[in-house]
Amino acid sequence: MTTPPIPTLTLNNGVTIPALGFGVFQTPPEQTVTAVRTALEVGYRHIDTAAAYGNEREVGRALRESGVPREDVVVETKVWVSDYGFDATLHAFEKSAGKLGLDVIDVLVLHQPLPSEPDLAADAYRALEHLLAEGRVRAIGVSNFMPDHLERLLGDATVAPALNQVEVHPYFRQPDVLATDAEHGIVTQAWSPIGGITFYPGWGDGARRSTLQDPTIGRIAAAHGRTPAQVMLGWHLQQGRSAIPKSVTPARIAENFAVADLTLTDDELAAIDALDTGLRGGPDPDTVTVAGWGRDIPEA
Ligand code: NAP
Repeated sequence: MTTPPIPTLTLNNGVTIPALGFGVFQTPPEQTVTAVRTALEVGYRHIDTAAAYGNEREVGRALRESGVPREDVVVETKVWVSDYGFDATLHAFEKSAGKLGLDVIDVLVLHQPLPSEPDLAADAYRALEHLLAEGRVRAIGVSNFMPDHLERLLGDATVAPALNQVEVHPYFRQPDVLATDAEHGIVTQAWSPIGGITFYPGWGDGARRSTLQDPTIGRIAAAHGRTPAQVMLGWHLQQGRSAIPKSVTPARIAENFAVADLTLTDDELAAIDALDTGLRGGPDPDTVTVAGWGRDIPEA
């Protein structure tokens, strides 16, 4: 029996991306080449990085070393808040493209809405629109935009974002964001799709519950002979979202990719939806400011 391919999602400008990508947040640079090469060998064709992750150079190296044709891989990266502003964001593109070793970045997104500096954020987005018009990027998007941030952006923008990368996992589903994205034809891309933010060490308080240990997810996983991570990824894909799980562990990288043949029932999907606690694991996007979160993004 052959495994069906990972589904693709068509963005609002016709560009297609695989619904399942590979994330590298917190992947140390010295482990990034191996992790991304492993992912490409397993079959992932979408890599999600960011200027702020400090590993764009290694993502580019892995891509070149893999031998996978450049045009077969969607490379997504993000502009950090310290580089917002029209000229600064154009320069941020040059820094990211230089580190990645690419002339064209497939998907370039604003990493945070930065509501404390609305003019800077609007100018940063104008720079993305400019890069899109110039053919330097194939699609533009945003990340951590809540409905009020999106409505403000859409009021100013010429080009609607193609995707919005936000925290979505069974314990924090953000139905209001999902609905606003859908209303505007914006693909929702789930970060921490298997709930990494609910269990990675050194984050949050001791009261956190890990999505991987959830009894409902465990019961559904057992019923399908799958793992909790696979069930969560199947849940995203079946509900039309993009998901970008991260791992540096080869067996998990492969496990997370082997989900295209998993079909959950409507009742199972609803049972996972019902796990939503309404509590975010990551920072409230309204609190992410340049003063508090700014950092120098080095030149290429
Ligand atoms: P995640 O992908 O939900 O979870 C990653 C964690 O799960 C890691 O600790 C990983 O450990 C572990 N893991 C992976 N596969 C597993 C499996 N099959 N079984 C058990 N454990 C498993 O969380 P994330 O890294 O926060 O999110 C994914 C990506 O989203 C990031 O890498 C990044 O690209 C993006 N992201 C974006 C933002 C944003 O603000 N835009 C914020 C956070 C993340 P090992 O690596 O040790 O295997």
